[in-house]
Amino acid sequence: MDAVTATVPGSMVDSFGRRIDYVRISVTDRCNLRCRYCMAEHMQFLPKRDILTLEEIVELGDIFIARGVRRIRLTGGEPLVRRGVGELFRALGSRIGHGLEEVTLTTNGVLLSQFAPLLADSGVRRVNVSLDSRRPDRFAHITRGGELGSVLRGVAAAREAGLKVKINMVALAGLNDDEFEDMLLWCNGEGFDLTLIETMPLGEVEEDRTCHYLALDTVRHELEQRFTLVPSLSRTGGPARYYEVSGLSVRLGMITPLSANFCAGCNRIRVAATGTVYGCLGHDQKVELRDALRSGGAGQVDAMLDRLLAGKPKGHDFHIAAPRPAVARHMSVTGG
Ligand code: SAM
Ligand code: SF4
Repeated sequence: MDAVTATVPGSMVDSFGRRIDYVRISVTDRCNLRCRYCMAEHMQFLPKRDILTLEEIVELGDIFIARGVRRIRLTGGEPLVRRGVGELFRALGSRIGHGLEEVTLTTNGVLLSQFAPLLADSGVRRVNVSLDSRRPDRFAHITRGGELGSVLRGVAAAREAGLKVKINMVALAGLNDDEFEDMLLWCNGEGFDLTLIETMPLGEVEEDRTCHYLALDTVRHELEQRFTLVPSLSRTGGPARYYEVSGLSVRLGMITPLSANFCAGCNRIRVAATGTVYGCLGHDQKVELRDALRSGGAGQVDAMLDRLLAGKPKGHDFHIAAPRPAVARHMSVTGG
């Protein structure tokens, strides 16, 4: 894939001809869990003044929508710990049908039971909930102290509110690698979908990720001993490859950033809680929009987005065995 075009100012098409219609916005770098592959135990969080206000996030959302963005996902850190986040969902939800097609959420589920009715009422239809183990002791270990029950109550409340739930499970050798079948059957019974994710080398986390890295090819072969997995033609424009599971209604996704690069069809950019926008999860290419937003310059913001689109990298290049993380920032900063 070579750079094919000069980008058109004001559009969301990059120099490789990829249409970017999906933006992930991290609304906070803070979190009420400390998953071992994601964060260090003692994280230095950003001061409040460095974080975009909720009004600034909405303003940025409107700029993106005007440029052709159709889907916005709020993430973090843990988005539901941000004070006032309910108002943000209401504000962005009011744009659905007026340029925006969808507002979604990625959450650890701990506070989801409180928010599920408000989310549904705001127009959110789908949520991704991270859940790496259904065993309370393991869940507490992986998340450094999380309580499984709160997440289970959260997903139950989401379903009750009519939200479609997808469970995200990071595949971790030695930590949850005997739970894939169980998780698949549980999701099937609950009416959820399941996506498995390879651990990515993002940010220092005190632990050695290499010893927990598990290639999803191995997991797929293992699941194929028990189930018939039929590759699905449906693509969401995202990085996951999907499989139908014969005899079950659950759809299985696999995100393989290390074992199979998925960048050719990339449709997204990511906004950190500070207003820094990254062209790629695995690169430092970025523009800093916060000051432009604060000085009231929508034109300046547009010019910076043009620059970001023109320079959006062709793809990431993760290697799990590399001595240092591919990029220094954590997933919780960029917005997973
Ligand atoms: N706190 C929310 C949650 O856990 O869903 C949203 C933010 S979290 C950064 C988003 C997703 O990124 C989660 O599914 C998490 O498992 C995943 N994640 C975090 N660090 C990762 C890493 N180093 N490699 C792969 N996935 C990671
Ligand atoms: Fe928090 Fe999500 Fe990172 Fe876990 S994966 S520490 S829940 S931001």
